[in-house]
Amino acid sequence: MTEHMTETSGPADLDRRLADALERIGHGMRSLTQRTAREHGLSPLQQQTVLALSRQPTVRREVSALAAEFDVTTPTMSDAVSALERKQLVTRSPGADGRRRLLTLTDSGEEVARRLTPWDGPLLDALAGLPVEHRAVTLDSLLHVIAELQRRHVVSVSRTCTTCRFFGAHAHADPAAPHHCHLLRTPLPLTDLRTDCPEHQPATA
Ligand code: SF4
Repeated sequence: MTEHMTETSGPADLDRRLADALERIGHGMRSLTQRTAREHGLSPLQQQTVLALSRQPTVRREVSALAAEFDVTTPTMSDAVSALERKQLVTRSPGADGRRRLLTLTDSGEEVARRLTPWDGPLLDALAGLPVEHRAVTLDSLLHVIAELQRRHVVSVSRTCTTCRFFGAHAHADPAAPHHCHLLRTPLPLTDLRTDCPEHQPATA
């Protein structure tokens, strides 16, 4: 051990430092969310809702589904949606049972979503400074971690490749495209792994 290395240096402590780094990023992003939401007259949860509805306008979303996605209770999610309705950013339309459940953005809501994007620009800029191969391997690793956390009931809902029933892990020898999508019937390059796939079906379904 060199004089500059501490007792916590080296591979033995790598996981601890990785967890610390992820936690640090989480703190920073929470603070950034609060700032950008406040600038647009929203709460952080309202901002998340506007962005989620804007990202995939064709996905039919209800309050309960968003609550599961954001790890909040249904009443908390319902309050956020009601506030967005009062601000005329979101409307509810009838679902299959005729009740007004499905959420869509109004034109004003779309405009707010456009102004919010990309709310996480500093993070995207920081990532863009890494070589693409590093970013691809990092994405693969983080999606693996998310799948593990979902199995341990820490992350409740994710539509990532690694939690999808169509995902074939390490099906190919190519290190740049080791996984397979059995729905699309094609190898999945690491750079193409999805974090919010509309075709996703839970592996446990
Ligand atoms: S269906 Fe979508 S989430 Fe599932 S493995 Fe294929 S690309 Fe990934």
